[in-house]
Amino acid sequence: MDHFSYQGGRLCAEDVPIDEIAESVGTPFYCYASATLERHYRVFVESLGDLDATVCFAVKANGNIAVLRTLGNLGAGADVVSGGEFKRARAAGIPASRIVFSGVGKTDVEIADALKAGVWQINVESEPELETISRIADSLGVTAPVAIRINPDVDARTHEKITTGKSENKFGIEWTRAHEVYTRAAGLPAVGIVGVAVHIGSQLLDLSPFKDAYIRMRDLVAMLRADGHQITRLDLGGGLGIAYDGKAAPAPDSYGALIRSVVGDLDCQVVLEPGRVIAGNAGILVTRVIYVKEGATRTFAVVDAAMNDLLRPALYSARHSFLTVAEPGRDDHLREMDVVGPICETADTFARDVALPNLRPGDMIAVRTAGAYCAVMASTYNGRPLVPEILVKGDRFAVVRERISVDDLLARESVPDWVVQP
Ligand SMILES: *Cc1c(COP(=O)(O)O)cnc(C)c1O
Repeated sequence: MDHFSYQGGRLCAEDVPIDEIAESVGTPFYCYASATLERHYRVFVESLGDLDATVCFAVKANGNIAVLRTLGNLGAGADVVSGGEFKRARAAGIPASRIVFSGVGKTDVEIADALKAGVWQINVESEPELETISRIADSLGVTAPVAIRINPDVDARTHEKITTGKSENKFGIEWTRAHEVYTRAAGLPAVGIVGVAVHIGSQLLDLSPFKDAYIRMRDLVAMLRADGHQITRLDLGGGLGIAYDGKAAPAPDSYGALIRSVVGDLDCQVVLEPGRVIAGNAGILVTRVIYVKEGATRTFAVVDAAMNDLLRPALYSARHSFLTVAEPGRDDHLREMDVVGPICETADTFARDVALPNLRPGDMIAVRTAGAYCAVMASTYNGRPLVPEILVKGDRFAVVRERISVDDLLARESVPDWVVQP
């Protein structure tokens, strides 16, 4: 369920017509609906029932500070994977006491900054990192609150580029070594063990890998407690999938019920790190058709957004669906087209063979389910600007990130004086 629908023949985000936003900011642009963000967050929290749970939104899915504040105001914490995301979450007003710091390659500076700010939990992914955290915490005179990320060696059965819980993936410590690594952690001077963490991948459309992983975590908690460790927190990661192209996705309710049934009686505070399931459906990318090109065997709608703005189709062969910004008429017949961007890469194809009303140059279309892992992955490839982000609430909209123009980018470049002008 989202809040992008037709009113009077015009696609609206909540109560704001998309064509009005386009008039004001130009195309392409991202548009997020506050009502969808808030609804998804609430549904997710409610699915956990009376479990003692903290929901830390995965900032890497959507790091816009207006989006983060919208969720933070509902009580969300943040799961961050870099010093930059830590800064974003704090700039949005999310207190360090609700921030989990994950990621395989935290630098000394990132660790020190997080500790100084009072980070709630650091999810440790390797033994060298454990040593580093202890050394830095010791020098700062603090105890670092750590959970160790365990790799449960389960197959998340999702796209190979977003599966993280198999033993051959770079994430976490093999579950078979948990006993040894926790013992080592307990012997370090400035490390305080608070719990166990796991995250097996993203866009999971089947709950059974979660179940396998969580049962393994449950067994681990018992084993670690028997070893004498105080395990008070269980971080179950993110990963719940959503419907991009009509394929059924699990309901948050079933996910919540699964969590409660597997770990509900462990007397642990549960941490969850959802990203996509909160923000994915809350955003669209609006783009305008530049040309309709009749190729030898196919018809191409060449649009003004490209893979630098929305990388998922090129990176993961992801399939997004589309809406026209003007509602199709009853007797508009549909035509199969490829929707492509202007970038000089064949991978710059948003979709092949999509049935769309007969598009003409100047028409706008919206790429749906673009609220997560889209704007955050944008680049300036092919000399393109970074497109603006818009947040809607009711009948209002605001530009929450301006377009970063080519002039803005050029202003940061210079030519050394030894490269002489001819
Ligand atoms: C990416 C990531 C998440 C969020 O995953 P979603 O699929 O967006 O829910 C949570 N935790 C960690 C450690 C991650 O890397």
